[in-house]
Amino acid sequence: MSDPDWVALAAALAERFAERAPRHDREGSFPHENFADLREAGFLALTVPADRGGHGLPLTRFVRVQETLAAGDGSTALALNMHLIRFGAERESPTYPPGWFDELCRGAVEEGRLVNTAATEEGLGSPAGGGIPETTAIPVEGGWLLEGRKTFVTLAPELWYMPVLARLDPPGGGAPDVADFMVLRDDPGARIDETWDALGMRATGSHDLVLEGVRLPESRFLGYRNKGKPSPRGRAGGVWFALGVAATTTGVAAAARDYAVAFARERTPTGLRSIAELPGVRRRVARIDLLLQRNRALIADAASAWESGDDAGGMPAAARVAVAKVDALNNAIEAVDEAMRVVGGVGLQKRRPIERYYRDVRAGLHNPPLEDRAIEQLARRALDEE
Ligand SMILES: Cc1cc2nc3c(=O)[nH]c(=O)nc-3n(C[C@H](O)[C@H](O)[C@H](O)COP(=O)(O)OP(=O)(O)OC[C@H]3O[C@@H](n4cnc5c(N)ncnc54)[C@H](O)[C@@H]3O)c2cc1C
Repeated sequence: MSDPDWVALAAALAERFAERAPRHDREGSFPHENFADLREAGFLALTVPADRGGHGLPLTRFVRVQETLAAGDGSTALALNMHLIRFGAERESPTYPPGWFDELCRGAVEEGRLVNTAATEEGLGSPAGGGIPETTAIPVEGGWLLEGRKTFVTLAPELWYMPVLARLDPPGGGAPDVADFMVLRDDPGARIDETWDALGMRATGSHDLVLEGVRLPESRFLGYRNKGKPSPRGRAGGVWFALGVAATTTGVAAAARDYAVAFARERTPTGLRSIAELPGVRRRVARIDLLLQRNRALIADAASAWESGDDAGGMPAAARVAVAKVDALNNAIEAVDEAMRVVGGVGLQKRRPIERYYRDVRAGLHNPPLEDRAIEQLARRALDEE
């Protein structure tokens, strides 16, 4: 049986999500009903490998699905992104013990269970920076004892599997190791503290995960981080993450574009011409389309370069991914800003969705790769490497 047209299905779901988005944004509540729809339509298994019962969606199509869903609700798309990227990346370069990856796939396919990493902490900053977490994993009889607090745990209201980044202090002193441990929603001592109250992406449920005396069996150890050499091609996890976020953010900007265009066509201040005829408005709308199309081209280029292993084309695929993420985010922010100017003062009104797009479009700036790090990576490649 051939796979359905996931982009068309995503467009239908996005319409429903758009209707629910204002309330969840206002309340900062989690869109459980959107995830029920996604679950029912098979989206939670979209990137799970086909040989484990999923749909094995390639990166090049995954980004189109993300953009389409995000045009309905950025929060839902960003939250789904966190779950789906894990399977896509793991298909390419395994990092989990095989038994755990089988379990994640089974959970997603058979029970619609969600997974997302709890790495960030208040004091740690972006974990990609290589900081050492304060959350501790202490070896105890038969396993591990975890203590700590994680922040920005997207999808927290529905997560079942939560790989947690923790430090292991060597008994004799010295530099700690950093490793991931699988925490499950019903582990005694693990609880969600509903702290998420942010400027944008308010319906992602990115709350805190609190770990108080959480005892885990040995089998929950997933592996050390930063040991061994990274793949010379770059990290598959980082690639799926970066392009998923870039596509999601582009979807938010596309929604702002459609709103501004519809508004301009309708808006005729009393006794005057339609604002769609004004040269300034026309320039802005054309500029928005230019920026969005640039994003789609950048993301598609980076995704297909990564998928095919094409390291020619001016830059290696991993560097093209970093360029796409940084540029797409800035383009999307500029596009929404232009859309706000087209709509004018009424765009500030809470009852119009464009002010939500204006807030949501910024969030991806703070997902990896952060701009400054990506720029430094490009500069290093150009100026320092052989
Ligand atoms: C909507 C949303 C959802 C998220 N979901 C999750 C999640 O599910 N799980 C999770 O673990 N985390 C999640 N995060 C957290 C995210 O991955 C970052 O860890 C978090 O935003 C912290 O970033 P920071 O800017 O505070 O980092 P910091 O590292 O403290 O950076 C602060 C500033 O310093 C600069 N900087 C820091 N180090 C360097 C460097 N080496 N070179 C150049 N500049 C540097 C940065 O560019 C930035 O300007 C989420 C974040 C957001 C916004």
